[in-house]
Amino acid sequence: MGLKVAKFGGSSVADGIQLEKMRKIIMHDPDRRYVVVSAPGKRFDGDNKITDLLFLCLTQMENNIPCDQIFQVICDRFTAVKLNLDLDIDLTEDFDEIRERMRNGAPKDYVVSRGEYLSAKIAACYLGYDFVDTEGLIIFDKRGRVKLDETDARLSEELAKHERAVLPGFYGTNEETGEVRTFSRGGSDITGALVARAVKADVYENWTDVSGFLMADPRIVKGAKPIGNISYMELRELSYMGASVLHEDAIYPVRLAGIPINIRNTNHPEDQGTVITAEHDPEDKRVITGIAGNRDFTVIAIYKNTLNKEIGFVRRLLSIIEDHRINFEHIPTGIDTVSIIISNKEIEGKLDDVLEDINLQLKPDNIDVYTDISLIATVGCGMSFRPGVSAMLFSALAKNDINIRMIDQGSSEMNIIIGVANKDFESAIRTIYEAFNE
Ligand code: ADP
Ligand code: ASP
Ligand code: MG
Repeated sequence: MGLKVAKFGGSSVADGIQLEKMRKIIMHDPDRRYVVVSAPGKRFDGDNKITDLLFLCLTQMENNIPCDQIFQVICDRFTAVKLNLDLDIDLTEDFDEIRERMRNGAPKDYVVSRGEYLSAKIAACYLGYDFVDTEGLIIFDKRGRVKLDETDARLSEELAKHERAVLPGFYGTNEETGEVRTFSRGGSDITGALVARAVKADVYENWTDVSGFLMADPRIVKGAKPIGNISYMELRELSYMGASVLHEDAIYPVRLAGIPINIRNTNHPEDQGTVITAEHDPEDKRVITGIAGNRDFTVIAIYKNTLNKEIGFVRRLLSIIEDHRINFEHIPTGIDTVSIIISNKEIEGKLDDVLEDINLQLKPDNIDVYTDISLIATVGCGMSFRPGVSAMLFSALAKNDINIRMIDQGSSEMNIIIGVANKDFESAIRTIYEAFNE
C-alpha cells in the first residue's frame, strides 16, 4: 500500500458537483489519505473566486465601507454546498466569528485565508475525514519564508494522529506575531507539497481543471499537447515563467524528498496527467518540453564602448539595482552592451531614479528603455543535445514578422528566453509551438 496526498484546486471544489467528483476520486483509492483544498474557485465564466471576494472585503474594510454584503455572498456559497450535499455541519459560528473579526479590522492574511478554512471544513465533513487546521503547523519566519524543518516536524507529528485528514491550503502562522500568514496567490499548491513531504507520501497528486501540464497555456494555444513526463527543473522554469498550473514554490519541498508530482484533471480522472520526477528521461527524444511566458517587463539596455574591458561595470550596475531594492530577472550581456530585465511591477515608481544613478555612476554612451516587453521561455532538457534549436525558433519568429527584442540562453542550455513586444506575446507563443510541433 502506498500513501498519496491529493490537493484539489479552486475549480475542483467550486460547488457541490465538483465536490462529488472529488469524493469519487478519493474513495476510488484508499491511499489518498491526506487531502488539501483551495477555496472554491469559479463555477463558470464570469463567476467569482471566493478568495477574490475576500480580497474585495479587504478593500472595502480599508476604505471604511462595510463588507457585510460581500461576506454574505461568501457565506451563501458555502451554505449552498452544505444544502446541496446534505451535510451535517453547522458553519454559523464560523461565519459569525469571521464577520465579527472583520468588523473589528482583522488582519489581511486572516481575512483572505478564510476561504480555504471553510472549504476544508466542508470537504472534511463530506469525506468523513478529520479536519486539521494548518494554523500553527505551517510556520513562516518574520520575512514570510516557510521554516521548512519546523513545518515538517509539526505537520508530521500532528498528521501521525490522523489516519485520514483534510487540510486547508494557502496559509499557516507567522511565528513572530502568532497571526495567520498566507502564501502568495495559488499557494495551496505549496501546502500540498509540504504535507506530502511531512507524511512521506509516495506521490503528490495535484488535481486541477486540465489533464496535466500542457506544452503551452491552453488559453493561448488551443489544443496544446499534454506533457507526459517532465523533470522538476523544467517544470520550475516553466512555472516561474508563467505556466500557472502549479505554484513555482511547490516544487522545492517535494523535490527535496524525491516525491513525484502527478498533475491530474478532476473532470477527467481517467487521464493520466503529467508526472514530474527528478530526472529527465534520457530515452525521451522530444526537442522542447514546453513554452511559457509573462507580459509587462522593462528592459534597460546600456551601451558603452568596450564595456567588457571595464572591470566592475556589471557589479556597479547590480549595486544600483540592489540599492533600490529591486529584484531583476535576467541580465544578458554583449561586448559593448548589458541589459537588465525587471518586471514592471518591481520597478514601478523607481525607473527615473535608477536611470539617473546609472547615468551618474556608469557614464554609458547610451541607454534605451523598453517598458512593454513580454518574456517567453522555450524549455526542454532535450535542447542541449540538438544543434539548430535556436535557429529554428528565430527563423519561425522572423517568418511571422515577430521582432525579437532580447535573447538570453541560460547556461544550463535548458531554455531560451526571448523578449518580444507585449502586442506580439500570444502570436510568438503560438509561432514557437507550431515550429516545434509540425
Ligand atoms: P487550480 O485552481 O486547480 O490550482 P490553476 O488555475 O491554478 O488551477 O491552474 C490551472 C490552469 O493553468 C489551467 O486552467 C490553465 O488555464 C492554466 N495554464 C497555464 N499554462 C498552462 C500549461 N502550460 N498547461 C496547462 N495549464 C496551463
Ligand atoms: N485561494 C488562493 C488563491 O486563489 C490559493 C489557491 O487557490 O491556491 O490564490
Ligand atoms: Mg493553482
